[in-house]
Amino acid sequence: MIKCPRTGKLVYTGFAMDAQTFEMLPIEDQDPIQCPACHQMHRWKKRDAIFERESSAPPSDR
Ligand SMILES: [Zn+2]
Repeated sequence: MIKCPRTGKLVYTGFAMDAQTFEMLPIEDQDPIQCPACHQMHRWKKRDAIFERESSAPPSDR
């Protein structure tokens, strides 16, 4: 997830992986995503990414 700079809402980046895996990726600049909150294209970097913490909800599948 990244935080939309226009609306402040968290938007999904399309990356479905854990923070550790993500951290190991040799990429810095990500492709822009179209923000579902404001419908603008946002460029984002790895350091901008926010990972949802699975606090209490157990994994539903698998
Ligand atoms: Zn946005």
